[in-house]
Amino acid sequence: MPSGLELRGVTKRYEPDTIALQDVSLNLPGGSVLVLVGPTGSGKTTLLRLIAGLDEPTDGEIVLNGADLTGRSPKDRDVAMVFQHPMLFINQSVARNIGYGLRLRNYPQAEIARRVQDVAGRLQIADLLERPARRLSGGQRQQVALARALVRKPAIFLFDEPLTYLDLSTREQLRAFFQQLRSTLP
Ligand code: ADP
Ligand code: MG
Repeated sequence: MPSGLELRGVTKRYEPDTIALQDVSLNLPGGSVLVLVGPTGSGKTTLLRLIAGLDEPTDGEIVLNGADLTGRSPKDRDVAMVFQHPMLFINQSVARNIGYGLRLRNYPQAEIARRVQDVAGRLQIADLLERPARRLSGGQRQQVALARALVRKPAIFLFDEPLTYLDLSTREQLRAFFQQLRSTLP
C-alpha cells in the first residue's frame, strides 16, 4: 500500500464566487513534513480543513495511505488537526479534553488513561490534568489541543498556525517540542 498523502486536482469554491483553492495537486511520501506559507486568504486553512474532512472539495481527490477520503467523516479519517484557536470543552478537565478523540473511537479506558498520562508528561502539562479547561491560560489551552492531537497517533498531523497567539516563552517551548516530534518521525 502506498504510504503518504496525495492531492489530485483539489478545488474548493465557496458561494457565490470565491475560489479558495484551484487545482491543487501534491504528493507527500510517508514521513514527510510540509510547511505551507502564504498570505492571509491564500487558502492554507481551507486546504487543511479539506484534508481533515471538515469541508469537502468542490472537485478533486484526497488520498491518504492509499485510501480515498472523499465523503468520509472527520471521525473516520486517521487525521488530527490543531487549530489556530484551541477549541476545548471548557467545562471538562484537561484529561477529558485530551482523551476526547480516543473516547470517540471507543478505546478502552485503561489505554486512554495511559496514553493521556504519557502525552501530558511529554508536553509538561501532567500537573494540569484535573483542572477544568476554563482555568487555563491561552498557551496552556493550545498545549492541551496539541496533546489531544498527539495522543491519537494519527496517520497525519495538521497544524494551522498553532503558535500565532501564544506568548513568547510558550512559543519557544512548543517550537522545541515540534523539533523533537520531527525527530521521532520515520
Ligand atoms: P488562509 O488560511 O491562508 O488565511 P483561508 O483558507 O482561510 O486562507 O481562505 C481562503 C479563501 O477562502 C479566502 O478568500 C476566504 O475569504 C475564503 N473562505 C474561507 N472560508 C470560507 C467560508 N466558510 N465561506 C466563504 N469563503 C471562505
Ligand atoms: Mg488560516
